[in-house]
Amino acid sequence: MTPDDDISDPDVERATDGGVSAGAVDERPSSETEFVDVFEEGDLDLRAGADNCYKCTTCDMSCPVAEVDEEFPGPKFQGPEQWRLKRKEDEDIDDSIMSCSNCMRCDSACPSGVPLSQMHNEARGEYVDEQMSTLSTEYWRNRILSNYRTSAAIASKVPRLANWAMNFGPARWLMERTLGVTKEREFPDFATETFREWWTERGGAAVENPDKRVAYFHGCYSNYNTPEVAKSMVRVFEQFGYEVMVPPQGCSGTPMFANGMLDDARRHAETNVAELAAAIDDGADIVASCTSCSLSLRQEYPELFDIDRIEDVAENTFEAMEYLRIYEDIEGELADAELGGEAFAYHGPCHARNQGLHRQAVELFDDVDGVLVEDVGDSCSGISGTYGWKEEKYEKSMTIGEEMFEHMDHAEGDVGMTECPTCAMQMEHGTGYEIRHPLELLDDALVR
Ligand code: SF4
Ligand code: SF4
Repeated sequence: MTPDDDISDPDVERATDGGVSAGAVDERPSSETEFVDVFEEGDLDLRAGADNCYKCTTCDMSCPVAEVDEEFPGPKFQGPEQWRLKRKEDEDIDDSIMSCSNCMRCDSACPSGVPLSQMHNEARGEYVDEQMSTLSTEYWRNRILSNYRTSAAIASKVPRLANWAMNFGPARWLMERTLGVTKEREFPDFATETFREWWTERGGAAVENPDKRVAYFHGCYSNYNTPEVAKSMVRVFEQFGYEVMVPPQGCSGTPMFANGMLDDARRHAETNVAELAAAIDDGADIVASCTSCSLSLRQEYPELFDIDRIEDVAENTFEAMEYLRIYEDIEGELADAELGGEAFAYHGPCHARNQGLHRQAVELFDDVDGVLVEDVGDSCSGISGTYGWKEEKYEKSMTIGEEMFEHMDHAEGDVGMTECPTCAMQMEHGTGYEIRHPLELLDDALVR
């Protein structure tokens, strides 16, 4: 099986047919992304963006990898400086690009609007295509990690066996020695019933409403590992009268961008854009429960690919709670809710920060009786998707995460909360806390 075979999973079928336009939605935030051409011979030429850099080094100060690794030259070098060099002569990409975690914090830090993460993604793609041997262990390790959806689709056919095997000590030791996947982390459990299986078993949408439709981009993790998050998302939207569609979908591409596997990411993007554009034609807006998935659809897709309707998809994509805050009186609904004395240590993922969404869980639950959601600060969790799973990056990833672990320890609650599934893994790994998604709390407060 190749990494992209599973895009056409037999269980990935359109669950809701199309219909009339969603008239309730009329005030949409427009995408602020600047699309800058970069490569002369590719889809994009970013060299013009390099000229906007005035070397203030603000981006370097914001980089969590540069903070703990003095050999990492930082985002200014990876971005504008590298592109200036390439303009003069056709320099190779510096191999330190593979040490960038794609946290994208430098993007929002730059006061001059230099498209740093776009430059890094392009550079990583070129590095992998032209300078990394496809016979190397690193190439295959990165390819397997970034195509998590393929492994998860196979493992979820035999979840109990997979859960045992993936955390069997000798197997983990072998994986570290042969592939360079750290044995220090616990593999997340695969659900015995995926979200899509549950959805099919349930008979699809419980609410039909041609005037209020959303197409749910659940991503890989909510489907294979945490279907409870996806079910909460469905229940909450149905509570507000939305008809939820669950279109066929591949991976958002987030782990592929971070590993320079742009051909794999493009194949998934083509499927996603076609299916989500069809849902838009059926009157739906797109909502995601993972902040990296929403960032990918909104920002990385139009920055990296030229696919028909890609900007349509980017402009109509929202994070789930963001969507409810824009179009529903969710604060009003929550005002009457009561929860049973719960306190959460909340971490805002870097990719939520990039969309301006890193405070929304704290703000949403601020006035709800019986719940305290405490922000544990603006540091990076350090795992950055597949980054912290690499044997040579594990210690660095944990050093970056130390500040968050300490703040979680000092927070009142001993349950964590975040929107990002891999930040959740790191929070659990570093503190031993149970971690919940804010949508699960919304489900508790408004539905159950
Ligand atoms: S923050 Fe922007 S302008 Fe400043 S050094 Fe970095 S890329 Fe250049
Ligand atoms: S994406 Fe993150 S790790 Fe990479 S250069 Fe920017 S701040 Fe540093």
